[in-house]
Amino acid sequence: MPYTEDRAAWFEGQGLWSQVSATDWRDWTWQLKNRLTTVEQLERYLTLTPEEKAGCLFANQKLALAITPYFFNLIDRNDPHCPIRRQVIPRGDEMVVSSEEMLDSLGEDKHSPVPGLVHRYPDRVLFLVTDRCAAYCRYCTRSRLVSNAQDYNFHPEYEQALRYIEAHTEVRDVLLSGGDPLLLSDKKLDHLLGRLRAIKHVEFIRIGSRIPVFLPQRITAELCEIFKKHGPVWMSIHTNHPRECTQELKDACERLSFAGVPLGNQSVLLRGVNDDADVMQALVHRLLRMRVRPYYLYQMDLITGGSHFKVDVRKGIEIIRALRGHTSGYAIPQYVIDAPGGGGKVPINPDYVEKITEDEVVFRNFEGKIFHYPLKSTPVVTPGGARMPVEVHA
Ligand SMILES: *Cc1c(COP(=O)(O)O)cnc(C)c1O
Repeated sequence: MPYTEDRAAWFEGQGLWSQVSATDWRDWTWQLKNRLTTVEQLERYLTLTPEEKAGCLFANQKLALAITPYFFNLIDRNDPHCPIRRQVIPRGDEMVVSSEEMLDSLGEDKHSPVPGLVHRYPDRVLFLVTDRCAAYCRYCTRSRLVSNAQDYNFHPEYEQALRYIEAHTEVRDVLLSGGDPLLLSDKKLDHLLGRLRAIKHVEFIRIGSRIPVFLPQRITAELCEIFKKHGPVWMSIHTNHPRECTQELKDACERLSFAGVPLGNQSVLLRGVNDDADVMQALVHRLLRMRVRPYYLYQMDLITGGSHFKVDVRKGIEIIRALRGHTSGYAIPQYVIDAPGGGGKVPINPDYVEKITEDEVVFRNFEGKIFHYPLKSTPVVTPGGARMPVEVHA
């Protein structure tokens, strides 16, 4: 069945928590305190499938279970295949480990000069500032270290990392991630951004966060002031399905945007969530309406226990092909595979080029029609002596 959505509707309201005061609901600390973290809490609101129940029992040895009330409301409780549900409720499949999967599939640990810092690319570093998130994505790339479920002993070393960045003048771009950086207090973020801004060679500061999606209440006026003060600070949010684009998220994006934070989105291609061109198109259209530019669409990393989310790369290419030309260029993310073992992000694109010769490029447009672009110029001399360009068409 093709995905259709009510384009006019932006979900809002307190749903299952309508009895809670609006003040509590809008308070991000209330949302965190009232997260659903146990089977019993989940079962109060929905009937878990046996598959989910099995997953919940194991979850805390692998990656903690936690869902904010706000995000839980987005689940369609009558649909065991709900795309929101699949992202945050564990399944027994997480215990299935395939031979190609790895704990540290991106080889981050070997590119880490200081605990919490990954320096893979020449001019930029990934700075993992915490191991906590507001809610846990079951396909998390860093499940080995987030939520402290696996004895990984992850302790980011801010001071050492900052000194490393200070000493490495080639680092012009710092990406704060984790865990979710926006779980740090305002005071800590203010300090961290201030320290980074004071480093002359750091030109570009950005944050990767799913907080706007899991906990939009965290995007307070005070937090926005901090981004304004240390700006420009860029941010990549993380949505996977159009239903995540609620009125609350839209409002949070507006606050960020008005504070001068340019917004991008990263999605992970997930089986049963967004491996469908209509779903993806609805998502990217909603993102543009929220002032968010789709940035990356990731092929899922080879994390342990993630094979039930894996989508064929050919499907990903087909989805990008279905977008290109058919909708605004601004709406189209770059599809990438983060190379296993630590090769960095590599773009994967539909192939439009049929052939390239000395004379021309032959390629197809979005409708599949063939076009030619001449590579050689052939000047012609007119009777009057002027050299006129000539059109070369096959
Ligand atoms: C993704 C990533 C970056 C940022 O890559 P961009 O393509 O510039 O967004 C930097 N360092 C590491 C280790 C990464 O995984």
